[in-house]
Amino acid sequence: MAEPKENPLMEKIVSLCKRRGFIYQSSEIYGGINGFWDYGPLGAELKRNVKELWWREMVRLRDDVVGLEATIIMHPQVWRASGHVDTFADFMRECPLTKKRVRADQVEPQSGIAYSYSGAASNPARAVAELAQERGHIRENMDLEDVLKGSSSSSEPFCVLVQKGKPPESARKAAIQFYKERGIPEPALLGETKSAVENSVDFHPESGVQLGPSRPFNLMLQTWVGPIQNDENVAYLRPETAQAIFAQFKNVLETSRQKVPFGIAQVGKAFRNEVTPRNFTFRSREFEQMELEFFIPPDEAVEAMSGSLAQPGNGHPGEPQANWGWPIWHKYWVEERVRFYESIGLPRNTLVEYWQKPEELAHYARATVDILYKFPFSKRDEKGELMGEELEGIAARSDFDLSQHERFSGKAMGVFDEEVRTAWNKLDEGKKKELWQRYYDARLKYLTKVGVAIERAERDAKEDADGFSKGQYLPHVIEPSAGVDRLILALICNSFSELNDTDDKGAPRSRVIMRFHPRVAPIKVGVFPLLKNKPELVAQAKAIFAELRQHMMAFYDDTGAIGRRYARQDEAGTPFCVTVDFETFEGVKEGPLAGQKDTVTIRYRGNTDEENGRQERIAISQVREWLLERIR
Ligand code: ATP
Repeated sequence: MAEPKENPLMEKIVSLCKRRGFIYQSSEIYGGINGFWDYGPLGAELKRNVKELWWREMVRLRDDVVGLEATIIMHPQVWRASGHVDTFADFMRECPLTKKRVRADQVEPQSGIAYSYSGAASNPARAVAELAQERGHIRENMDLEDVLKGSSSSSEPFCVLVQKGKPPESARKAAIQFYKERGIPEPALLGETKSAVENSVDFHPESGVQLGPSRPFNLMLQTWVGPIQNDENVAYLRPETAQAIFAQFKNVLETSRQKVPFGIAQVGKAFRNEVTPRNFTFRSREFEQMELEFFIPPDEAVEAMSGSLAQPGNGHPGEPQANWGWPIWHKYWVEERVRFYESIGLPRNTLVEYWQKPEELAHYARATVDILYKFPFSKRDEKGELMGEELEGIAARSDFDLSQHERFSGKAMGVFDEEVRTAWNKLDEGKKKELWQRYYDARLKYLTKVGVAIERAERDAKEDADGFSKGQYLPHVIEPSAGVDRLILALICNSFSELNDTDDKGAPRSRVIMRFHPRVAPIKVGVFPLLKNKPELVAQAKAIFAELRQHMMAFYDDTGAIGRRYARQDEAGTPFCVTVDFETFEGVKEGPLAGQKDTVTIRYRGNTDEENGRQERIAISQVREWLLERIR
């Protein structure tokens, strides 16, 4: 887990993740595998909490969203329809020496001296030729290179950058290796030239070798289904969970008693053969997504039913209304998602709402907002502010996805809406004409964009617009698509803090406190007897633990000094600890509960240094409810 070296805070976070069992490198005993990560005991709890909270907010607490759990491998046509087979590619460049690839748009700028070679010839051939020239067997004015023709040689150019302060011999070494790999034994380098280079993005950041041309590289991981490994049996590990939702849209619609507008949610694994996995788990090759496809009627249908569309204002637009067009639905989901992040402990000022510029949008997208978190490794703007990296994208994707699956599968993906048909029949002729034309134009635009010939496109668009006037349409979609692992990393980064205080013996120490929001904290409560060797304290603490673990993740600990046990829970991010002590049996010595028996100490981890270690006393009978109120 060497990554990322240049960021001391990230280094501390990565090391804490391993030390406390949040995240480990996958297959670590074999040296790891780049872009794959495992979650340890605390990480697994944290992840489960995050996914469950998302599911609760997005599915269980809503009347208008239902869930789906689809397979990772689907019919390959799904990925042709979605465009992933043809266009899901990153442009990358390869180091011709190490074969390592980097994303063309992510090459770190480098400065130094570039050594260029125009080729190489094998040394023995050169040695013989030089000897021959010396002895007069080759005329003096004859070019040695001509003589060397036919011997083992290469005119393939090679260029390598040597950073300032690094030994120049490394350039020759790299070049010799490069030509050796091209079958030239002990190569003599030809035509060496040197030039100073400043901030060039043309060289591999590790090897320094000049990169090859930029080429598209499909990010989908492939496998074969069945015993024969041929082209016909190629299948893909899904690069996103969303497509299964589109492919199952009609089934869900027919079996769930939902009606547009409504959504289908899914949480699950996704795989991308990222060219340069980096920043710890931020860009992984196997990760999890939490995606919602929220289907809405096209604006023309809303207008037919409601007369006009509501205009989006500032802030959260409130409870969904029948007259919402796509811009308000989009805004609604952006606000809902930001509220979700706030509710699990990511304050608004750690997030950035980035509205994609028109030139950045996918051709079918009407608007996309990326919610960014200000990770410690994010780039900084001119003012030195962290710019943030994407946690979630919320896209208004028009009816593109269902249209594509309709075209590729030949199955109708649209809905019939009685309310639209009834409303349509009441419209005046002018309005009918206007809405018909708008629906027709939108369909024609889509069909021509995806390459349908114009006559066919006009015919199909007319058919679609005629269908629309009878209450049939293809739903549009708003897609909030979040990454679980990126959110986990954001929560870990956001919770990480260091406190300088003193240990049990008064010696100064610096320790980590993970200030997770109680809703996501892996362990909600630590339960301790003050002393291990007092059977009545142990028995009472175990009884409390046995009760609490039925309702929440609880942890029992009776080893070591109580201060050390609190510190261990602070490091795990446990918001509360319950301690059974002598006052539990003898009665509280002072304070509002003075004289009362059967009470325990509740100790706060706190969200600030001052709050850390705050204690209060409550009756054992109230502990469960007290905790449940604070962790929900
Ligand atoms: P990026 O531009 O960072 O590659 P993206 O725009 O391709 O991301 P989407 O296709 O919109 O990402 O995927 C939705 C979400 O899935 C992202 O916001 C992110 O949280 C998560 N995600 C995508 N790729 C990865 C990855 N390689 N590792 C971890 N999470 C990912």
